[in-house]
Amino acid sequence: MAPSTDAPNRPARKRKTRGEGQWALGYREPLNANERSKKDDNPLNVRERIETIYAHRGFDSIDPGDLRGRFRWWGLYTQRAPGIPGARTGTIEPEELDDSYFMLRVRVDGGALTTEQLRTIGEVSQTYARDTADITDRQNVQLHWIRVEDMPTIWEKLEGVGLSTTEACGDCPRVVLGSPVAGVAADEVIDGTPAIDEITERYIGDPSLSNLPRKFKSSVSGSPRWDSVPEINDVSFVGVEHPEHGPGYDLWVGGGLSTNPKLAVRLGTWVPQEDVAEVWHGVVRIFRDYGYRRLRHRARLKFLVTDWGAEKFREVLETEYLGRALVDGPAPATPTTARDHLGVHPQQDGNFYIGAKSAAGRVSGSTLVEVAKAAERAGSRRVRTTVEQNLLVLDVAPGEVDGLVSDLAGLGMHADPSPWRRGVMACTGIEFCKLAIVETKERAIDLIGDLERRLADIQGDVRDPVTINLNGCPNACARTQVADIGLKGQMVPGPDGAQVPGYQVHLGGGLALDAGFGRKLRGHKVTSEELGDYVERLVRRYLDQRTEGERFAQ
Ligand code: SF4
Repeated sequence: MAPSTDAPNRPARKRKTRGEGQWALGYREPLNANERSKKDDNPLNVRERIETIYAHRGFDSIDPGDLRGRFRWWGLYTQRAPGIPGARTGTIEPEELDDSYFMLRVRVDGGALTTEQLRTIGEVSQTYARDTADITDRQNVQLHWIRVEDMPTIWEKLEGVGLSTTEACGDCPRVVLGSPVAGVAADEVIDGTPAIDEITERYIGDPSLSNLPRKFKSSVSGSPRWDSVPEINDVSFVGVEHPEHGPGYDLWVGGGLSTNPKLAVRLGTWVPQEDVAEVWHGVVRIFRDYGYRRLRHRARLKFLVTDWGAEKFREVLETEYLGRALVDGPAPATPTTARDHLGVHPQQDGNFYIGAKSAAGRVSGSTLVEVAKAAERAGSRRVRTTVEQNLLVLDVAPGEVDGLVSDLAGLGMHADPSPWRRGVMACTGIEFCKLAIVETKERAIDLIGDLERRLADIQGDVRDPVTINLNGCPNACARTQVADIGLKGQMVPGPDGAQVPGYQVHLGGGLALDAGFGRKLRGHKVTSEELGDYVERLVRRYLDQRTEGERFAQ
């Protein structure tokens, strides 16, 4: 069944070049295998087949189109079979990389979890995922080693506490990022929680939005710290005070990394809280109807925004999708404060929140269960995940803070981490990801310990953490281009000239105050083995040569 749509169905214009497959211009025939698969069957329908067929008959019964395509709409990717070599030689067929196990992404919209939900994820991991769990840099939790046979029970457990894997992956609206301190931070402009709740309740799992050209990433945050990376989402609502209308949101569109990275652009309009879901719905339908579908690498909203420009995008949104003009609005001030929320901070209500750092997002089911217990012992029922792969515990009474900080440290979650632990992030990498070229998670964890030893003498001199983002391939899931030291996994020449795992280096990228993409210096590559030496040299040189107030990204 083809997904329903209310796209304007105009006749195709005569063009000199082939069309981009835009539905709104009348191109409805699929122009590649991904588009064909989505047209053949709405990917959301695969849930029923998993529950009624595949979970009973096992992995080998799964239709290949479901396995490598539609399963994603329910948060399921096949994970990489262990022992397959790292280099993409071109001789390995994708099927050969398939394991009979899956990665399962649990969506955590706004990063908001109750302790009961956190404990449930942890228990699911302990029972069905070999105790694996990674906090992703999009506030989700990813589990590994999942069997299709266990999915009906896993969904029953997750959905029993209000969690979901619906559209956690696939060409659809992914998790909505939000400020991890929404509703509690003393400095917030507006609490984004009601807007995120309305978007997810009304539109996630809506079949009319489940066939987008590619993934669609959203961010809604009323924090003046821009703590849900609004610069690099397809649509972002950024808290701002309007001089006449009060608190609301500035609307940005068209951000994204991967290849051809772009920062989101402002449309110059102010959106009140009660209109966010409607405006979000308008933007996502523009993407569905006008987004490019011919080539996968051009099928993100950023390409349409680049071609149209902000003015035309706003005009189409207002005239074709909302049927009314939006209010002009001011730009929010660029933040100058850290946005990772680590440490102990006062809430509006006299309690505190505690931000604690994992090692590159790697935790375990057992750790999540123990964090939930420790938070509850301290009287809290709320935790949050962050876009820096951290965990926050909210609502901690003043007398409970020290005990909880100590309990979290005992679980490997540090509220006062070294600058190196604080600044390192990593994507999934070759351990589980079929697209990976090199290892990332374990390499990042080793690197943290290595830098803590090597640079112990200068730790106090590092005012701002140096961000080091390890990515297993060019897809930039861990934000290669916006780190101080962005590392893109690839095979590089080793000391004897043979190709070995390593990274292309992007230097000096950043967000907020330092928004911009890192410089990719020609031939600037480092082997995985030499990474510690390289970072040490670079950081020492920066500290030796920096001028007063100069940040690494400058
Ligand atoms: Fe996989 Fe590449 Fe994304 Fe890392 S950056 S998770 S290796 S696709």
